[in-house]
Amino acid sequence: IMTVFSCRTDSKNVVSKVSNEAPFDVKVDSLMRLMTLQEKIGQTVMYSGGWTVTGPTVSSNNKKYIKEGNVGAMLNVYSAKGTRDLQKLAVEETRLGIPLLFGYDVIHGFRTIFPINLGLAASWDLEDIEKGSRIAAEEASAEGIHWTFAPMVDIGRDPRWGRISEGAGEDVYLGSEIAKAYVKGFQGDDLSKHNTILACAKHFVGYGAAQAGRDYHTVNMGEDELRNVYLPPFEATVEAGVETFMTAFNEVNGVPATANKFIFRDILRDEWNFNGFVVTDYTAINELVPHGFAEDEKHATKLAINAGIDMDMMSSANRLYLEELVNEGSVDETLINDACRRILLTKYKLGLFDDPYRYCDEQREKEVVYKPEFLEAARKSAAMCSVLLKNEGKGLPLNNSQTIALIGPLAKDKENIIGNWAAAGDRKGKAISVHEGIQEYLGDSKIIYAKGCEIEGDDKSEFNRAINAAKRADKVVMVMGEDYDMSGEAASRTNIKLPGRQTDLIKAIRKAVPNKKIILVLMNGRPLDLSEEDHLADAILETWFPGTSGGSGVADVLFGTYNPSGKLPVTFPRTLGQVPIYYNMKNTGRPIPPNNPKEDYKSNYIDSPNTPLYPFGHGLSYTNFEYSDVQLSATTIGSSDTLTASVTITNTGDYDGSEVAQLYVHDKVGSITRPVKELKGFEKIVLKKGESKTVSFDLTVEDLKFYNNDTFTVEPGTFEIAIKGTSDFNFEHIFTLE
Ligand code: BGC
Repeated sequence: IMTVFSCRTDSKNVVSKVSNEAPFDVKVDSLMRLMTLQEKIGQTVMYSGGWTVTGPTVSSNNKKYIKEGNVGAMLNVYSAKGTRDLQKLAVEETRLGIPLLFGYDVIHGFRTIFPINLGLAASWDLEDIEKGSRIAAEEASAEGIHWTFAPMVDIGRDPRWGRISEGAGEDVYLGSEIAKAYVKGFQGDDLSKHNTILACAKHFVGYGAAQAGRDYHTVNMGEDELRNVYLPPFEATVEAGVETFMTAFNEVNGVPATANKFIFRDILRDEWNFNGFVVTDYTAINELVPHGFAEDEKHATKLAINAGIDMDMMSSANRLYLEELVNEGSVDETLINDACRRILLTKYKLGLFDDPYRYCDEQREKEVVYKPEFLEAARKSAAMCSVLLKNEGKGLPLNNSQTIALIGPLAKDKENIIGNWAAAGDRKGKAISVHEGIQEYLGDSKIIYAKGCEIEGDDKSEFNRAINAAKRADKVVMVMGEDYDMSGEAASRTNIKLPGRQTDLIKAIRKAVPNKKIILVLMNGRPLDLSEEDHLADAILETWFPGTSGGSGVADVLFGTYNPSGKLPVTFPRTLGQVPIYYNMKNTGRPIPPNNPKEDYKSNYIDSPNTPLYPFGHGLSYTNFEYSDVQLSATTIGSSDTLTASVTITNTGDYDGSEVAQLYVHDKVGSITRPVKELKGFEKIVLKKGESKTVSFDLTVEDLKFYNNDTFTVEPGTFEIAIKGTSDFNFEHIFTLE
């Protein structure tokens, strides 16, 4: 059968002589033979919708470019109707009828908002993360979105950096596993289904290593750190079949990522065989000029396409300069063919040439958005992501016979609770506040509410009312933290304490009710310096920004319906002066005294311990877990052997609960020095009270390899190994690799 490749049905349709059954690449080639250079360039151009009070809009200029065939993709346009209307322009009014691709930042949910990504990472629950991104894809795809700019898999080790909130934290292994879970959730098992969307690994690469935590700032690192820490989560997304990559805004060792051949051509394409397409970050081609890397935007356009960038997000660079660059012979046309081919192939994979409107489905939109089961899943995630940092004298769980004073600027909040990157989420109407969550358990009569203070500002005039509330209650619950826009893009801080007068309010209440339990519930997008709060509060529950059903999920934890099981994916320092601080640092050359390996080796501060306040992997439960009976299948292994390490974990407390068992290894000597600890596996298990289970991990040389500034290698020698419920421990077991 000869068929049309295009979606146009009118008489002007251009017909391609390819059978419907032909493979996508044959169809793409056939289509490309009909395309002018300008139309090919058009596929590499993405523009953004704008915003009005009623939702996304598209400017008349952008509509004109679409009709001319000069646009291949749009971002920030959604709703079944909005995307359908625009798709119609591309399909019915351009010469070739090639459908548009609609992208959007579906970061931690689309309409139903899940906890922010750093919070999701704290669940260490890959199934839950995959499920959450599946739900996000269900909702977004019903509103016409084909493509999410997620996951952000940048390792983040600096809490000043606002975008630490969007990643999975500081660890390479955890970050890589989580990266794969997101990709699987968004893309599903079959991209041609109407409820799956393209994922995008971003920001390639090094974005999290911005100097001094300032957003977009310089990144300079050796190839060992690049390959051992920052690249692996990206490689993991390639293994999981991610379809697209996004460039980072920052430079990497002097070359802005968006013009960096080494990372895009040598690593991404040649080493990893990535065959999806690469999009720039927003106006990142233009930014090559202020970076001081391109003379002008035309030069920048040339540098980007040469570096291997396929699609230009919002720079207008490809639209304005590429054709001219080809015509004057300074850009090879094959580069444009390659980029166009990759983009078209993706559109075929999504099934857009069969039915360009398959994603814009008003009926499905009605059925899917805010489905009760999605809100319920978000509630469960909010509970699973909460990390119990401290719980002295059984401040938690609460029970419903007690009266509580509910204090703090975030107690009734419905605006901040859904976090940043949640523009399509309902930042007021739909969210459940902590107050409402607690009401479900206590009704109104046992809650004495007082706001006490704002998140920011100096006003203390409401302190007394809050103090009175505390005096009248059995326990005090204070809900505090940051505004949602104090983290995220362009939201770095030089101070990571609770903002405003919040800490003063805790102090005032502590003083007024010295013997009452104070429970601090936190919402924030980064590790905070909680040194003072750690002294003042009896219990601290970190809930990040827990999302649309956040208040319910957090209340489930406070009342023990869900026994907390979250573990920190990132270190909480004692003071900002320790930053960057992360568990898998290196040793110095100072001798390590065996009796106090963490502190006393003279590479120390004179005014602070080296250790953090709350380490990576830390998180308490209402019950206790005891680790015993460590077994190694061998003490010496060869390079093709598998080592099995196991431990017995017993729930010795009074509640059923879940625990995340973490496998750590230390390669004692290497051709380059190795971190003091590296996470190499984890497993979340459920244990009834009194119950024991054995958890085991298989380790192969593949798990021990690293880049030594020359090559990837696994080196014989002695390794320390442990399975624990936190990264804060001393090793007791070793094995040898021959
Ligand atoms: C961000 C990206 C995002 C893009 C589109 C940029 O400013 O860095 O992460 O995907 O905007 O919204």
